[in-house]
Amino acid sequence: MNVLVLNCGSSTVKFQLIATDLGIIERNEDKRLASGYVERVGGEAIITLNAEGRDEQRLTESLRDMRAAVDFIIRWATSEGAGISGVKSIADIHAIGHRVVHGGERFTHSVLITDEVLRGIEDCVELAPLHNPANIKGIQAARHLFGPGLPQVAVFDTAFHQTLPEKAYLYAIPYQFYRRYKVRRYGFHGTSHRYVAYRYRQLRNITREQTNIITLHLGNGCSAAAIRGGDSIDTSMGMTPLEGLVMGTRSGDIDPAIIDYLAIKEGLTIHQIESLLNKQSGLIGISGLTNDMRELMEEAHENNDRRARLAIEIFSYRARKYIGSYLAAMGGADAIVFTGGIGENSPEVRSLICDGLQWMGLELDGERNAKCTNGCEGLISTESSRLAAYTIPTDEELLIARDTVRSVQGAPQRY
Ligand code: AMP
Repeated sequence: MNVLVLNCGSSTVKFQLIATDLGIIERNEDKRLASGYVERVGGEAIITLNAEGRDEQRLTESLRDMRAAVDFIIRWATSEGAGISGVKSIADIHAIGHRVVHGGERFTHSVLITDEVLRGIEDCVELAPLHNPANIKGIQAARHLFGPGLPQVAVFDTAFHQTLPEKAYLYAIPYQFYRRYKVRRYGFHGTSHRYVAYRYRQLRNITREQTNIITLHLGNGCSAAAIRGGDSIDTSMGMTPLEGLVMGTRSGDIDPAIIDYLAIKEGLTIHQIESLLNKQSGLIGISGLTNDMRELMEEAHENNDRRARLAIEIFSYRARKYIGSYLAAMGGADAIVFTGGIGENSPEVRSLICDGLQWMGLELDGERNAKCTNGCEGLISTESSRLAAYTIPTDEELLIARDTVRSVQGAPQRY
């Protein structure tokens, strides 16, 4: 099956076209046929396109809305110019898998999208007002272009964390707010945490039940997950992706009383403060320079910028504290797994995070760690380290394509 994976944001669409089916999944031979990124949907869009065995193409085109963007992607992917093998017309795209950010408590697995499922995703808009509407637009655009006959599947960022126990997902606020409004921790990046846990057990040749790890997704957004017996039992993001680790532009954990204090001091509304915590905090807030870890590293090294160093230090310190608390929550773990742009590519940040964890048996292997960048997958701790450390590049699109195949072919989901 050729599965088109769509990740629709408010003004962006990321896509991949993946050839896979149940047999291919067993053999681990899924094939990436094409991928791309559309930015600035709604105006003069910037488009990056990659087809297997061809040079990357970059172009601009006026794309009015999400429907125009999805239409563009499909026209390109099926065109002769793209030259994607086995894809000549719209009939060669057999299913669509959508990344959907919030599935609330209702969606614990990936599902085939029906009218009822779509209503369920709409019901979650309140919980993710910035993300779910864009995902819904993507689903509607694809339905409009392909017709209702083409199977579409929703894969939720929150689903993997639906195994959290009550003690981990409830906030210590009056219980009626959970009952009335479902205020609780949901967690995000679920597909990424799930993917690296799956790869980890493949690398170690162990079962899901034997998988006891802490996964750190460190990208522009960052989150940690405590995975015990294959299940997510705690995670750092909360009702929204604002809680937890320090991120590119998000504060992560803060004292909630700061919101009222700043509102009074600065004469801002609560809405403005929330926006400040989401968009102007984290690495960019501390450094006053950038949300990009690579640029911060350059500033710290080349210009010895104090606040760039401070941002990196606070980022790493928070991550280390989460590892410590999850080790306590889990009663110990076998490994820490790094993923995401920073986790996959920055030996220095990994080392800063692990520094000070020697007492609990974590010994990074300096050489392995330094070498593991740019898609490298494997062990970065010493052979004798009691707590191992791994780097595993994430691949959410692959899981979305596989979940899509399983949903369409009626096979059980594998989490
Ligand atoms: P993502 O959201 O997963 O694409 O991750 C983006 C983040 O990864 C940005 O902060 C990048 O600066 C960071 N990143 C990518 N490559 C490196 C690198 N070699 N060193 C440090 N940070 C990196």
